[in-house]
Amino acid sequence: MRICIDPGHGGDDPGLQAFGITEKNVNLDIAFKLKQLLEHNGTGVVLTRDKDETLEPAERVERINQSGADYTISIHCNGGPVSAKGVETVYGHNAQTGKELAESILREISNLGIARRRAYNKLNAKREDYSFVIREAQMTAVLVETAFITNPSDNHLLSRNPFRKKIANAIATGIYNTVQINEQKSSHWALPFFNQIKEEGLVQDQYPLEKEVSWGEFSKVLARLIEKFKK
Ligand SMILES: [Zn+2]
Repeated sequence: MRICIDPGHGGDDPGLQAFGITEKNVNLDIAFKLKQLLEHNGTGVVLTRDKDETLEPAERVERINQSGADYTISIHCNGGPVSAKGVETVYGHNAQTGKELAESILREISNLGIARRRAYNKLNAKREDYSFVIREAQMTAVLVETAFITNPSDNHLLSRNPFRKKIANAIATGIYNTVQINEQKSSHWALPFFNQIKEEGLVQDQYPLEKEVSWGEFSKVLARLIEKFKK
């Protein structure tokens, strides 16, 4: 498997700036950390930029499409009113794998304590994908808005090196979970049971069926079950 990591912005385009940190640098640092983790697990990685470099959209897309990657992960920070915070991921419309990948990365990052906002797709006036990276990439592409650089608490997390490492780790886990889920599609013996508890609302996302469950997750599922019985 090969992943193309696209650190948003760069060079003359700093992206968002708030509380002393700049989006292009945060994106690049998370990209480096993600590259290291993926390569450590034997996954090939191509970066669209590995330095503070200005990339015109056409050049960025060219590098993505020349990468030979199975998936592209574009890394950004979000911005908005000071009170807005949390993680968002964006996938292409009509892209089932992209949706799964976006939901999986959203879940892993929100498990770090960043507010879970949404995995969504956004269209332009022509009813095409709004993000040019998602629109033009010839493989499944997901854009990760890791956290709000404009929110003091999210910004504080983004400014910390160990937390950027955690974000990179969460993205890597999200990617591997999706790959495992796709491999087990229609073949795993427990899939009907899992689909049943999902339909009943006891779990909200797709999970690799061989993955271990923590006490926290197990308690959440049982609590939902108890709520159902009480009704
Ligand atoms: Zn950005």
